[in-house]
Amino acid sequence: MLPMSGNVCSHTGCERECFEGNPKCIFHCEKDDWFETVKDSPQEKKDWTKSQNEINKFWTEFKKRWNKGNYDCSHFVFPKFEKGVFQNLHQDYLKLPDVIKDKHSKEIVSFENAIFLDDG
Ligand SMILES: [Zn+2]
Repeated sequence: MLPMSGNVCSHTGCERECFEGNPKCIFHCEKDDWFETVKDSPQEKKDWTKSQNEINKFWTEFKKRWNKGNYDCSHFVFPKFEKGVFQNLHQDYLKLPDVIKDKHSKEIVSFENAIFLDDG
C-alpha cells in the first residue's frame, strides 16, 4: 500500500510535500506566524518559543538535505537559527558559496532570494 502523499509545494520546481496545511513546503512556506514580536523591544525582537517544534523540524530536514549535497536554498525562508553548524549561516551566507564551491566544484550553492528572519 502506498503511503498517503500530501500536496506538492507550490514553489516552482519544488517537489517537496506541503508543510502542515501550507501551500508550500517547510523550506519555502512563510513563517510570519512562527514568532511573536516582543513589544517595546529594540529592533522589534522576535520570540520564537511557540514554534520550537517547527524550527527543529526545519533544521533536521535542512541538514539532511545539505549533507546529501543539495545546497540550493533559493527562495527559502529561514526561521531562527539553531546553535551549531549553521548558527553563522546568516552572517556567512555570502561567503559560504565560495567555500563550498571549492570543495564541491560541481554543486550549485544558492541563497538567491532567501529570507532570513532571525534577529541574528
Ligand atoms: Zn518548496
